[in-house]
Amino acid sequence: MSKGNIGVTSDNIFPVIKKFLYSDHEIFLRELVSNAVDATQKLKTLASVGEFKGELGELKVYVSADKKKGTLTISDRGIGMTGEEIEKYINQIAFSGAEEFVEKYKKDAQAIIGHFGLGFYSSFMVSKKVEIFTQSYKEDTVAQHWSCKGDPEYTLEDTIKSDRGTDIVLHIDDDNKEFLEESKIKELLTKYCKFLPVEIVFGKKKEWKDGKEVETEEDNVINNTAPAWTKKPADLKDEDYTQFYRDLFPFSEDPLFHIHLNVDYPFNLTGILYFPKIKNNIELQRNKIQLYCNQVFVTDHVENIVPDYLTLLHGVIDSPDIPLNVSRSYLQSDANVKKISSHITKKVADRLAEIFKSDREQFENKWDDLKIFIQYGMLSDEKFYEKAEKFALLKNVDGKYFTFEEYKDLVKENQKDKNGDLIYLYTTNKEEQYSYIQHAKDKGYDVLIMDGQLDVHAVSQLEQKFEKTRFVRVDSDTIEKLIQKEDVAKVSLTDKQKDELITIFKSQLPAMEKIEFIVSFEQLSETANPVFVTQNEFMRRMKEMSALQGGMMNFYGEMPDSYNLVVNTGHPLVNQILNDEETSVKENITPVYDELSVVEEKQKALKERHKDKKAEEIPAEEKTDLDALTDQISLLKDKKDDILREYASGNKQIRQLIDLALLANNMLKGEALANFVKRSVELM
Ligand code: ADP
Repeated sequence: MSKGNIGVTSDNIFPVIKKFLYSDHEIFLRELVSNAVDATQKLKTLASVGEFKGELGELKVYVSADKKKGTLTISDRGIGMTGEEIEKYINQIAFSGAEEFVEKYKKDAQAIIGHFGLGFYSSFMVSKKVEIFTQSYKEDTVAQHWSCKGDPEYTLEDTIKSDRGTDIVLHIDDDNKEFLEESKIKELLTKYCKFLPVEIVFGKKKEWKDGKEVETEEDNVINNTAPAWTKKPADLKDEDYTQFYRDLFPFSEDPLFHIHLNVDYPFNLTGILYFPKIKNNIELQRNKIQLYCNQVFVTDHVENIVPDYLTLLHGVIDSPDIPLNVSRSYLQSDANVKKISSHITKKVADRLAEIFKSDREQFENKWDDLKIFIQYGMLSDEKFYEKAEKFALLKNVDGKYFTFEEYKDLVKENQKDKNGDLIYLYTTNKEEQYSYIQHAKDKGYDVLIMDGQLDVHAVSQLEQKFEKTRFVRVDSDTIEKLIQKEDVAKVSLTDKQKDELITIFKSQLPAMEKIEFIVSFEQLSETANPVFVTQNEFMRRMKEMSALQGGMMNFYGEMPDSYNLVVNTGHPLVNQILNDEETSVKENITPVYDELSVVEEKQKALKERHKDKKAEEIPAEEKTDLDALTDQISLLKDKKDDILREYASGNKQIRQLIDLALLANNMLKGEALANFVKRSVELM
């Protein structure tokens, strides 16, 4: 038997392992099982090139726990180690500058382990003693027993081992007893070893017999040694891809499409990505891409490896070129990782283009589900936009789909305004904006549906990309002005008439929380509605954006919603109201106007005198006079408005027209709606 000190330049790595690597304790099992798998694979390779001529036999890796003894054992039938090899690979740990490094990475156990090839030593995170029993495949070698209690001292001696390969025996320390629990081990094996290329056995398969779970004779293999991504696409059918998806994510709906990645230059990468079926809540769906390194699970946090919008995809990526044990910040700057990211983008875009070309019908059928990925990609990645603009679709209210090019062709004749701008009309809610859509259709216009989570942003982007094109929501203006073909007819009212109508209509609007109305006039045809509601496109979009983003844009978010109550002065009903109003209030209002004009004359004259004077040159007396006149004017105006309001409240037609306009815009609710119904019956 020999004794020695583990060769590290720093005094002792064990405190380091114990102290700093606590956060990722569980990875020890991944490291040991991967080592066992490597040893097994190496033996297979040696056999295949004729360097190993013996019997391979069954090559499985066994994991077993003995609760009584407090041990966890990982056994393989791989190449094993000779005494010299233990000396070289286990005892001599290149560990220079250890302290400095550990200080730097103490929060990142993975980095330390990876950096120094300390995979095996991670077992000391959970063990008070570790033993190796190993028999090399090489002829005429003696089995070895290595033992170490977590200090630099180890013992190495000859032993007898009947079978080729290595048993690693961990004597689990008291703080880590959980790693002896069957459920815990199973959980870790399933997490890290599910797709390792050599069968991993943990206990025996169980089955239900007479209401009890009993062990069978059969090995319980926990992994699938040949997962779909390791196979050739030609050898897989659509069902195989779907089945693999179900294995990965048992609780998800079947995916829309898959993309099989297979690259060997300039880096190695395989994998399968799926477009899952999700429509909303894109935030909730992340972390469903698993990263593997030679079939060993590394992480499901792939933020730095795939572009952000693709983290919405589900699936697996396997690359030996992605450094397995490195810190996040390192990943971001790694050149390979950057290449991988842009490659995946390209692949995804190409695959979508291919499906679009070869099976447009299928593509259209799935568009509603796909849309969110594609929009997200187009919004966040210029390269992706360039590819996607050829297959991204627009959908109209009749459920027809168009590429950007096709849609332009569809509307370019009919939907140009007098400035030559192309106007794309859209709705965000087919039901609520129904009457506006109908008006647009009657005019021969086409209306798009833009009701998705990202459509507000998409609309802005497309406006920037398309030449001389604007998107306008169908309810944002009167039909004549949505796409203004010629100068619209002038409103034929005097300022006084406008002023009176504004007061009358404003007074009859039901009070609504956080909603403001501006009464405006348009000279439209007799067939257009007499009164209707529109909402300014710009303001509405600002509010929507701010709702999505918060923060800086909150200024808009705080503002009340502003609507226009548009009065059609070309409509006979409006003229009727105006005439009726003018005759009804004439007697009462004329004296007020007369008085008002006298006072206003006085005010005007006074102001005229003050025109070229500085404030200090005006006598105090005159200032007081002016203030008095101003007060008088506002009193008279109030009086005038009171008369108008009183008139309006006695005219059911006004209220009726307003309510009809609100109703068409889905804004008539609660008590106001009930009143409307009642009044309608009365009017009949
Ligand atoms: P790494 O696996 O990164 O090289 P480890 O510390 O995990 O680092 O292992 C060090 C070396 O010990 C391995 O490269 C291998 O040569 C040897 N080794 C570890 N486990 C086994 C095993 N089960 N069978 C044969 N050799 C092994």
